[in-house]
Amino acid sequence: MDAQGQTDEQVLQPAATRQPGATSTASVPDTAGATPAMAQFLEIKAANPDSLLFYRMGDFYELFFNDAEEASRALGITLTKRGKHGGQDIPMCGVPVHAADDYLQKLIARGFRVAVCEQLEDPAEAKKRGSKAVVRRDVTRLVTPSTITEEKLLDPTDTSWLVSVARAKGDDTMALAAVDITTGAFRLFATAPDRLVSDVLRIAPKEIVCAQSLFDDPELRGAWDVFGTTVQPLAASLFDSSNAEAKLARFYGVATPDGFGSFSRAELAAAAGAVAYVEKTQIDERPSLQIPEREQDVGTLFIDAATRANLELEQTLSGKRAGSLLKAIDRTVSPGGARLLLERLRAPSTDVATINERLDAVAWFMANASAESATRSALKAAPDMPRALSRLSLNRGGPRDLQAIARGLETAITIADSLSRSTPDGEVARALSTVEADMPHALRTMLGEALADELPLLARDGGFARAGHNTELDELRALRDQSRQVIAGLQTRYADETGVRSLKIKHNNVLGYFIEVTALNAEALTATDEAKAQFIHRQTLANAMRFTTTELADMETRIANAAGKALAIELDIFAKLRDAVVVAGDEVRAIAHALAVIDIATGFSTLAAEEGFCRPRVDETLGFDVVAGRHPVVEQALRRQAANPFVANDCTLSPPDDAGDGGALWVLTGPNMGGKSTFLRQNALITIMAQTGSFVPAGSAHIGVVDRLFSRVGASDDLAQGRSTFMVEMVETAAILNQATDRSLVILDEIGRGTATYDGLAIAWAAVEYLHEHNRCRTLFATHFHELTALTAKLGRMRNVTMQVREHDGDVVFLHAVAPGAADRSYGLQVAKLAGLPGAVIDRARDVLHQLEQDEGGKKADQLIDDLPLFSAIPKAKPQPANAEPSALVEQLSAIVPDELTPREALEVVYRLKALLPPQKP
Ligand code: ATP
Repeated sequence: MDAQGQTDEQVLQPAATRQPGATSTASVPDTAGATPAMAQFLEIKAANPDSLLFYRMGDFYELFFNDAEEASRALGITLTKRGKHGGQDIPMCGVPVHAADDYLQKLIARGFRVAVCEQLEDPAEAKKRGSKAVVRRDVTRLVTPSTITEEKLLDPTDTSWLVSVARAKGDDTMALAAVDITTGAFRLFATAPDRLVSDVLRIAPKEIVCAQSLFDDPELRGAWDVFGTTVQPLAASLFDSSNAEAKLARFYGVATPDGFGSFSRAELAAAAGAVAYVEKTQIDERPSLQIPEREQDVGTLFIDAATRANLELEQTLSGKRAGSLLKAIDRTVSPGGARLLLERLRAPSTDVATINERLDAVAWFMANASAESATRSALKAAPDMPRALSRLSLNRGGPRDLQAIARGLETAITIADSLSRSTPDGEVARALSTVEADMPHALRTMLGEALADELPLLARDGGFARAGHNTELDELRALRDQSRQVIAGLQTRYADETGVRSLKIKHNNVLGYFIEVTALNAEALTATDEAKAQFIHRQTLANAMRFTTTELADMETRIANAAGKALAIELDIFAKLRDAVVVAGDEVRAIAHALAVIDIATGFSTLAAEEGFCRPRVDETLGFDVVAGRHPVVEQALRRQAANPFVANDCTLSPPDDAGDGGALWVLTGPNMGGKSTFLRQNALITIMAQTGSFVPAGSAHIGVVDRLFSRVGASDDLAQGRSTFMVEMVETAAILNQATDRSLVILDEIGRGTATYDGLAIAWAAVEYLHEHNRCRTLFATHFHELTALTAKLGRMRNVTMQVREHDGDVVFLHAVAPGAADRSYGLQVAKLAGLPGAVIDRARDVLHQLEQDEGGKKADQLIDDLPLFSAIPKAKPQPANAEPSALVEQLSAIVPDELTPREALEVVYRLKALLPPQKP
């Protein structure tokens, strides 16, 4: 019970005012007149109205009513019916239990949440209560996007964050709690309404929860719209900061969470909300979560949501991994390394010491190639320890998860032994110390001794305990195996005694062990009284007869007992090993993190060697000097296409010596397709890579650490939020002008292009002045407004640069080289020609352009129209004279009001219209 006197179960029902996107929302039929089985179903469904109910019936999960309709549509499986309720057929569909994971995956991907309802007793048990007794069932787990733990359903290289958003009553501060139950990570962050979207997108959660009251707050409406159906509003009391500490203490089984650190009220509320949701979805199981850790927001490079998307850091604008920066630079070999890289890329550092430590590690592995390759081949074999730990802690793990922990720990020891003597101080050395200090040696030995080499998937299949680990188990297994030999001996003896050579002892699940002879040979076992006394008849089939003997039955009992006892001992061993792993959860996680850190360093060193990257100089200055920089993604793409190699370009935005403090502002002009966007993006990406701790695609690079990175590149609209392309552009530009500091890096591509020329030019002009005078940040500004280049006369730190082109026979050749100066023209027509616009349009456009360029005094458009020979060059389609008489056909058609026609009248109209056509040639 909480302070309001409600149980968690009661308050955990999602607030009724909103149901998440695709999730089943149909009202639950009432229980009047229901059979006991149906009443049980309806009761459980009523408790889980927001989820599809996977209702266990024998070997199937079955879905009924609206759930069945939705699931059959989403999964493409047959919808049938079963029985009636309230006089109506009950729609039903089902999925086999053994294939349920695949179906779950599809449903979760489509935005559903699924409640898995299991049989809690053997149907035979239920029968003992009476023939009509219903098997006890209940929901054992809610499967939602952020709470999946099955290996098959998870992307090993992706994180699986649940984010809980909360606001403290009174002081209005906001916080986020991020929990990844697949790895046990638990972080807390401060946030604010104006940066909620950026902060949440930085974490890239699979699911978001918040209080209904926060969800209804108009100030945050825009944020919820961005997150869409990933947000699940819950009862506000779950996020109540006044009882949050008690909730956390209960979850971790401690008297008070004071030892975890001191957290703000908003952070506590967010943490309590996250824990409540984990409890709701996992029902009786508790994942092994690390204690919440506060993340400082100082210390990471702020990248707003638009910049993150535009720069295609972890996926392209069309949502694909291929073509993203992550894909181009990820050379990690373990899932843990891939996930940590993703996290570092989402939040590059601004701490110069941290960045340089990471770079030191990369440099060391580059200089020690043999250590690098040995480490990488060891890491490749390292299993995913955190995810195995998470499954074990939730009682969903098997013997192979225990083995994953054992092998992971062994890998850590191998790597630590081979590296420890030589690595320099820094994060790799620290990772190695962690391996040494945290290694749970007792657990390692225990797992090594207990687990066999070949393991079954499930503990209940048995056979995973190594021979020699447990004497009693060994004895039972020997007895079981011996008994099998005894049975083989019995078969030979009975065959000899009866003279039936084809007599066999077989086994099935119904009869257990039995003797089988063909019908023709049955007489040998039934003819004499003696034979009848020995061979007890069990079953007659068309061609065979089956018997048993007292000896065989005894043997069977001994085998069954031995196997049952052996399995019980194995399950006990499994439970002990599992508990030991869970108890060592923090150490296992720390060691897994250490391996991930080493994976990133060796991955970056491999990348740098393969791609010819250099170590950036990162310091506290405001410098920015990239020599021979390249775009990591475009360069690789050009290489794959065997196209012309990438042209490297310099970029110097360091404060010019002679122009006071503040970064330089480069105005970049040049033709369409000249490479402006590529140049802008490559400098942003080089910055992100450097601050992530990677070498960079350049001849040399000096980067004074950047605090915030902004980019406005590419045009898109945001119709969902009711914003046109130009509006989006202005909102993003406003964010930059309002937030960029003198330590920021700003890249702006073609602002002001989405509106009338003079409005656009005026906005671009004023923005350049403001960036130079007010923000004073390092800036790259690409534009087609050549008029802006005149501003160099006034703005001391501004430089004009241009993408070079060569003209050849009226066509344009792009050199992709950045040079000082301003472009003389845009070459838009040449590019349009390259793109395949009709020749007539190009010729006409050339005429218009010529006239416009003559128009130095700024003639009015109507004058221009008069001056130009209208459409002279364009082949005309046959015009319909404006005042021509409408044809009879048109008149008839206009008179028709389709909605008022009967089918018969409609048919008559068709005949009438057809009759109006001129006679057709046969
Ligand atoms: P627009 O003004 O039409 O948007 P742009 O000037 O921004 O054009 P980009 O989109 O940057 O041009 O580049 C066009 C194409 O040129 C890229 O897709 C790439 O294939 C190629 N390209 C750009 N820069 C380089 C380079 N430095 N070396 C080689 N190829 C390049």
